Amino acid sequence: MSKNLVIAIDGYSSCGKSTLAKALARQLHFIYIDTGAMYRAVTLWFLRNKTDLANAEMVKESLQDIHLNFHSQDYQTHIILNGEDVSEEIRQMAVSQNVSEVSALKAVRKEMVKQQQRMGKSKNIVMDGRDIGTTVFPDARVKIFMTADPKIRAERRFKELTAKGESITLEEVFENIAHRDYMDTTREESPLSRAHDAIILDNTELTEEEQLEFAMKKIKPFLP
Ligand code: C5P
Repeated sequence: MSKNLVIAIDGYSSCGKSTLAKALARQLHFIYIDTGAMYRAVTLWFLRNKTDLANAEMVKESLQDIHLNFHSQDYQTHIILNGEDVSEEIRQMAVSQNVSEVSALKAVRKEMVKQQQRMGKSKNIVMDGRDIGTTVFPDARVKIFMTADPKIRAERRFKELTAKGESITLEEVFENIAHRDYMDTTREESPLSRAHDAIILDNTELTEEEQLEFAMKKIKPFLP
């Protein structure tokens, strides 16, 4: 068995995966990889370049022009797209509204999964997304599947977006989350689903500290 430890966190949109993943990475001194940010950065690139998603050749060419890197600073992870820090821009609604269509494309998934597997190879990592425990690292020793009441998820995301000055209604946020859940669970290419060996964490009524405590208890047996 490999010596490195992979903690795979999957789950629905806006249920706090990245908050938990970051807290775990910080506590354990592991590398945090936000795979949603990668799909968002690809989406941003496609939007900027007016890539036609129905045109496989154009998608392939656009993908070849993308170079993604993560850069950590003060426990914050920044995603760099072709040398530009796009961490803020990828959270905007324009990206959220198109990301599920982009991430359903086979060519996009193939490239992202390859990069994610390379990033996590022989390292201690916490990786969050939709298909980490099922496709990217099916042998991960710790798998957590997160869920929460959709209304609560929408309220949390709405607060975040309006705090950043985005003009949006709670209904729009709710609809976007419902749309992404639907697209992510029903797509053909590695749909969002719980790996049979993943532990479920429903955080509807849990604080961030309680979630961290829950996860740390599950991880402890695997730590050196
Ligand atoms: O995690 P986040 O909500 O930022 O992810 C944005 C979108 O990227 C998701 O709605 C999903 O469509 C896609 N995604 C994916 N596979 C992953 C991570 C994200 O398809 N591993």
